[in-house]
Amino acid sequence: MRLSQMLFVTLREDPAEAEIPSHKLLVRAGYMRRIGSGVYAYLPFLWRVLQKISQIVREEMNAAGAQECLLTQLQPSELWKESGRWETYTKAEGIMFALTDRQGRELGLGPTHEEVITTIARDMIRSYRQLPLNLYQIQTKFRDEIRPRFGLMRGREFIMKDAYSFDADEAGMKESYRKMHDAYHNILRRCGLAFRAVDADSGAIGGSGSQEFMVLADAGEDEVLYTEDGKYAANVEKAISLPPDLEKSSFKKYEKLDTPNTPTIASLCEFLKCSATQILKNVLYQVTYDNGMSVLVLVSIRGDQDVNEVKLQNELVKLAGNYGGSAVIGLTVPSAEAQQEWAAKPLPLGYIAPDLSDDHIKPSKTLAPKFLRLVDKTAVELENFVTGSNESGHHVVGANWGKEFELPSLIIDVRKATAGDRAVHDPSQTLQSARGIEIGHIFQLGTRYSVALGATYTNEQGEEVPLLMGCYGIGVSRLAQAAVEQSYDKDGIIWPVAIAPYQAIVVIPNVNDTDQVSAAEVIYSELNRVGIETLLDDRDERAGVKFKDSELVGIPYRIVTGRSIQQGKVEVVKRATKETEEISIHEVVPIFKRWIDEAMNANNVNP
Ligand code: ATP
Ligand code: MG
Repeated sequence: MRLSQMLFVTLREDPAEAEIPSHKLLVRAGYMRRIGSGVYAYLPFLWRVLQKISQIVREEMNAAGAQECLLTQLQPSELWKESGRWETYTKAEGIMFALTDRQGRELGLGPTHEEVITTIARDMIRSYRQLPLNLYQIQTKFRDEIRPRFGLMRGREFIMKDAYSFDADEAGMKESYRKMHDAYHNILRRCGLAFRAVDADSGAIGGSGSQEFMVLADAGEDEVLYTEDGKYAANVEKAISLPPDLEKSSFKKYEKLDTPNTPTIASLCEFLKCSATQILKNVLYQVTYDNGMSVLVLVSIRGDQDVNEVKLQNELVKLAGNYGGSAVIGLTVPSAEAQQEWAAKPLPLGYIAPDLSDDHIKPSKTLAPKFLRLVDKTAVELENFVTGSNESGHHVVGANWGKEFELPSLIIDVRKATAGDRAVHDPSQTLQSARGIEIGHIFQLGTRYSVALGATYTNEQGEEVPLLMGCYGIGVSRLAQAAVEQSYDKDGIIWPVAIAPYQAIVVIPNVNDTDQVSAAEVIYSELNRVGIETLLDDRDERAGVKFKDSELVGIPYRIVTGRSIQQGKVEVVKRATKETEEISIHEVVPIFKRWIDEAMNANNVNP
């Protein structure tokens, strides 16, 4: 393409809407335009990038034996009612855009496609002979995200590849999952990204396993914990570790002490000259279930540790049935206003003991009358511990479970693993922390959807049993931006060659110089002829502007037909390193072919 004939508009200034470098650069370089909150138009350069990523995804999915299809974006509410997700998705979480058609029928705009694919499987898969199967699509998804941000990273309309596998048994499902795991490795490697596969939280879906593929970048919304030996990596939401050793309590006798102005663990340690590991901390949460019922939760945990709210939420989902609910729609530390609503008398905040009396609660139709008391595993082994006294300005010391306090019957693991903790698989390894952008998520779903929608098949013994499923997503548009977040400099984007919109750009410094123009024209058509995707900057602009633009846009290789064409030479520049050399015009094609091959193959090598 000739730039003079393209929609090519670059901006000097950072757009006000953008916070992170990749978002700023993609807007400045003319790749995309914001149309509304979380909604972006993909302009021609970006569309080429997205198609290249899609093609890599397609090749690897096909190689893994999956088949491409295209499912419907309009999804009848009945399917979602069958799976039990309509209410949560449209009301409680509100992530699904829902609408009513002119006949009064309710529909949702597909945020994901488990319901649709499972309906198809129910209708079409009859026998074990048809298994295994894996279907995928690359399509626009719609999600009414609470906080759309960072451009393509968290959009309300975005491109996803989603695949769904169907197997006869658990072993088959695991094999399908393994194939997808390997395909995802290949995809990210071929796209030229530095990434890590990590253990992930599978939330309410449960299932036996899930992993996320994280592209490592400081702007990532997720925290990854990993060990140097490469044997452990997990999203912090899911991560496990060994807690630091417990220090023996210096308190021998149970007593209540005056501890003025010690509402925090740090202030209490300072005052009592004790270790935070000897303190029992009691943290108050308020959970709301999908039936509108709220419950006040008191979590007792070791003073030096924090609660992992994702783990806590998973535990609370398991207990939903006790309160007539099935899903959690809110989990908060109750604010002062929330406390005003339910507190029958002031709470001794900062001085709460595990036996805080239930008469602090003013029960109602939507609020359980008793605290739900949970204790983290690490707090069970405490002896002679320090904790609140339910009276401001006072703590008790030398306390013991089974003596002064009754040990809650619900013992759970809700401790948050943190960088610096020792690893479970090898205590000599300590957890390190990195930021990541979640690009893909693969799940073993089991029979969650097949049972709900009645998708069964007849096995070899002639019995009708539910299909075992897996689901596998990649954020194609998020991946494009993540690649930029991982690779840019002060002058602009540095695309990995495999997904760059064009591989080369020929710049004519002076379009009024006919020698420069004709040399450029020859090189431009020659490169395109041999399959190197090449742009020609033939605009009537100053050379400096053109160089700046080519750097901003991030085309990997630049050819300049400057003064040296008199000696039959051109200047070539590598975008990533800015290395410059003069080469003879005849060498351009073979050298570029070699560079591009090398760059693409570098990504194919196993790390
Ligand atoms: P997140 O935790 O980031 O919201 P998710 O767990 O909701 O992601 P999935 O439902 O597993 O994501 O979707 C599969 C992939 O789709 C994700 O790994 C991510 O790459 C991409 N994705 C999800 N939500 C968005 C979004 N709002 N904008 C762009 N890409 C997204
Ligand atoms: Mg999400």
